[in-house]
Amino acid sequence: MTLKGARERRVRTGGVDLCVAELGDPGQPTVMLVHGYPDSKEVWSEVAARLAERFHVVLYDVRGHGRSTAPRPLRGGFTLAKLTDDFLAVADAVSPDRPVHLVGHDWGSVQSWEFVTVGRTEGRIASFTSMSGPSLDHFGHWIGARVKRPTPGRVGQLLGQGARSWYVYLLHTPALPELAWRGPLGRRWPRILQRSEKVPAGDYPTSSLPSDAAHGAWLYRDNVRARLRRPRPDAYAHAPVQLITPLDDAFLSERLYDDLEQWVPRLTRRTLPARHWIPRTRPDQVSAWIEEFVTSVEGGRPAPVADGRHGDRFGGQLVLVTGAGSGIGRATAFAFAEAGARVVAVDRDAEAAARTAELSRLIGAADAWAETADVSDEHAMEKLAERVHRDHGVLDVLVNNAGIGLSGSFFTTTTEDWRRVLDVNLWGVIHGCRLFGARMAERGQGGHIVNIASAAAYQPSRALPAYSTSKAAVLMLSECLRAELAGQDIGVTAICPGIVNTNITATARFTGVDEAEESRRRQRSARLYGLRNYPPEKVAKAVLDAVAHNRAVVPVTPEARGAHLMSRLLPGVLRRVARVEPRL
Ligand code: NAD
Repeated sequence: MTLKGARERRVRTGGVDLCVAELGDPGQPTVMLVHGYPDSKEVWSEVAARLAERFHVVLYDVRGHGRSTAPRPLRGGFTLAKLTDDFLAVADAVSPDRPVHLVGHDWGSVQSWEFVTVGRTEGRIASFTSMSGPSLDHFGHWIGARVKRPTPGRVGQLLGQGARSWYVYLLHTPALPELAWRGPLGRRWPRILQRSEKVPAGDYPTSSLPSDAAHGAWLYRDNVRARLRRPRPDAYAHAPVQLITPLDDAFLSERLYDDLEQWVPRLTRRTLPARHWIPRTRPDQVSAWIEEFVTSVEGGRPAPVADGRHGDRFGGQLVLVTGAGSGIGRATAFAFAEAGARVVAVDRDAEAAARTAELSRLIGAADAWAETADVSDEHAMEKLAERVHRDHGVLDVLVNNAGIGLSGSFFTTTTEDWRRVLDVNLWGVIHGCRLFGARMAERGQGGHIVNIASAAAYQPSRALPAYSTSKAAVLMLSECLRAELAGQDIGVTAICPGIVNTNITATARFTGVDEAEESRRRQRSARLYGLRNYPPEKVAKAVLDAVAHNRAVVPVTPEARGAHLMSRLLPGVLRRVARVEPRL
């Protein structure tokens, strides 16, 4: 199989013939993609196509894989020293005058760690992006440190990684892996990848898989035991490194990278909720991070360091917030922006949305866009979803925040009032979940939906029948959807704030009173909210924490937490409080 639009050449080195593919403009910085086990360069096809718009992209089949030839004999033919020779030969052929930006996945990353930490490649590597493949030297030291000082926590880490490495032991057995890969395992592998790793079906893996996997067993046999026993003491990276860690990797524990700063002076950390094969499952996110990293290194700017409390988790993620022009929505957009996300700020007020997007960019968003839409308008929401998916891709996080206030007894609330509040507060959330959630589920790589409900969802009140009903519905919708989407790794959270100092009082409707009285009540409640003075930024922080920890229902503000507890333990008390007529 050849990569679409790629130019191919052969590079001869150390008795093997490497198949090298190039895409994009050779005048641009070179990004070199190194594949893992049991793969060939085609594992990168989706990432390469995206990067080729900006860079000179180079991929090669590692010796013994794809259409590169295998060393003879196999034993001793796959040492890290020989793999480094191959890398240098390819780099010299495709980019003789400029250092390359190296990107490795799985064993491609393991060997790239060698390239970026040995002296003879110095000056040939501009940066390195590592995914799911540690340095064997760092791994050896990591084990050594835990064996030397075995606290219970550290022993747990050792056992945890030991259990995830089951396949490494198997690969060390003679002949068995070769038989399995050339037999039943090779036939079943594509289905296994689809089922357990959620890798989409298509033109990957390629037909060379059985021989790639059989030859690649020597990557392990030639290197792992020797290096883990005697790790190099000076395995320091001589180029900036970006580490992308998928949080649900079945083969590698996140803890492996705990001590990495001691080996890498310039380290950027990224995490994403995904499994091992991110070049196949998250090519959008992976290429966005590579592009950002390479561009900053090329521009002589410090490599992006994940900022904010959740920088490593949300950096580069695509987040859409409705009602982002004011209050909780704006603060939430800013919090994601600070963490380096790509933010889509949606509001029915075009100017307010534009301002949020502009400020988001200033405070650290990887990018930000404004969109105007009324969340209660199904047609407008469909158009919005079309635009967002076409221009930016599938969302990682959706925050259905837009909402309006409505206060007044049941009998003074007209059907028009009911319609309006349900249209915005409930239907707005339903449209968002349907239109954006469906694509998240279809992508099969998880995500998160946050619905801003309210403490009113579980705290009855004679003054807020319509508003509370809308929010109770949002709470239950969130719980049901959470159950339905759990199997697809999509978390759903209902955030339930109490009284938060925003503009909501200025636009809230008060029923059963004339205009003058309505305006007086708005002012009074605005004063009360001002006196309570709970900042929307704290709600935003709760939103990010809830996504990071996949929380189901999150009351925010002390009174919301108190009422939540009472609704469970002493509902009778809440019912009594509900009878009290508020004086506004
Ligand atoms: P806010 O009025 O400051 O902000 C709401 C934003 O949503 C505004 O920019 C507004 O233009 C936008 N919006 C309103 N209707 C819209 C629609 N149909 N389509 C698109 N955008 C629309 O209010 P806030 O306090 O930040 O409220 C945000 C959410 O938090 C709401 O769902 C609200 O019910 C909920 N909430 C607020 C409080 C509070 O005390 N402020 C408490 C609990 C829950």
